[in-house]
Amino acid sequence: MNTPTSASSLNGIANIRLPAWLLPGNWPRHAGEPVTADLRFDAGKISALMPSRPRQDDLWNLHGALALPGLIEPHAHLDKTFTIGRSRPSKPGLLAAIETMHQDRQHWTAADLHQRAKQGLAWAAANGVTHLRTHIDWFDVIPPLAWFELANIVQPGVTLERVALAPLSFFADAEAADRIARTVAQSGKHSLLGGFIHSSNWDPAAMTNLMRSASRWQLDLDLHIDEELTSVANGLTWLARYLSENEFSGHICCSHGCALASGSEQQAQEVLTLLAAQPVTLITLPMTNLLLQDAVPQRTPRQRGITLLKEAQAAGIPVLLGCDNVQDAFCPAGSYDPLDTLSCALFALQLANVFDQQSRLICDVAALTGQKQTTLPLAVGSDASLIIFPGSDSATWPLNSAARLVINHGQLTRQRTWNAELSHES
Ligand SMILES: [Zn+2]
Repeated sequence: MNTPTSASSLNGIANIRLPAWLLPGNWPRHAGEPVTADLRFDAGKISALMPSRPRQDDLWNLHGALALPGLIEPHAHLDKTFTIGRSRPSKPGLLAAIETMHQDRQHWTAADLHQRAKQGLAWAAANGVTHLRTHIDWFDVIPPLAWFELANIVQPGVTLERVALAPLSFFADAEAADRIARTVAQSGKHSLLGGFIHSSNWDPAAMTNLMRSASRWQLDLDLHIDEELTSVANGLTWLARYLSENEFSGHICCSHGCALASGSEQQAQEVLTLLAAQPVTLITLPMTNLLLQDAVPQRTPRQRGITLLKEAQAAGIPVLLGCDNVQDAFCPAGSYDPLDTLSCALFALQLANVFDQQSRLICDVAALTGQKQTTLPLAVGSDASLIIFPGSDSATWPLNSAARLVINHGQLTRQRTWNAELSHES
């Protein structure tokens, strides 16, 4: 069977290689690797998942190509994206990038925001992203234009979440904190409360207000926390202790957490042990952290600035990888491809078993939302949405994997391939 036409409904796909983490424990193996799978679709859902059998002539045979469920982008900034051409920081580092972003805001009209954010979402969808969470900067206790503009952007096949990113100082006043949380809660589903928590604005009273207002309005949180290298950053340590002493109803994503890698092993283990007992996910952002931490002009960086991913995994804390900024003052490059992020993490974090285990870092929606997961992503009854990589194998992936087929609810919706990669089809 040749490549089906776009938007045609598929009966299913045969002979795909799925990663070990999403297969049942008793899945057969050959030469140490899971054997390939056949998937049957019915009305946009998976109706069967089984080890491959020969002669499934009504299915599209992928000849052992790697496949994953829909990818996630857990941490983006669609309000800032694609501004590097007009706003380039004159100095390296996080605080200089923030300054440049404030200068760029004069251009943030409805049309400008819409065009840039739409482009970012479209690129993500073409890469196979089915769930994207964007932070949106708030510059006051009332929502910015971007909060509303981005709510109106629809990208078929992609769930878009918005996080209100306010500096911690906005929560110093309990009434203001409550007003921000109420506005977010009344913004409809897929809205979360966020905050920028850093040594430069540290205020434990404001943190208490932030946590209490989120709880009162039953909001999940996604915090930019300890995005710095100082060993005395307060955010994660304070949060871990607060959660062990106070009730919190929602789920919390902690993004960055760079400082965790700067303190002592004992300090880090204490924080991770406390967080492991809470509904907390750690989001690592290797590309921007490598770029913005330990950034000094004319000097090669000595530190990586990346949080303790392996220690968090060992402690049982869910972990995800995100891209953070794309083509703006914080990061001049990027393409909304989670495989770029995973490729970067493979080397920066020295990851092993990347396809069979660590590909979960760019697919785990339950880790992002905190929703209880009762079945694996491609189990019977799940959405028939997956990404196929015809150009690479498990040793090559995620490198050399630009070629991609995107299946959304049982239909081939996008394909980016070269003839050589599909030559086995002819
Ligand atoms: Zn960010």
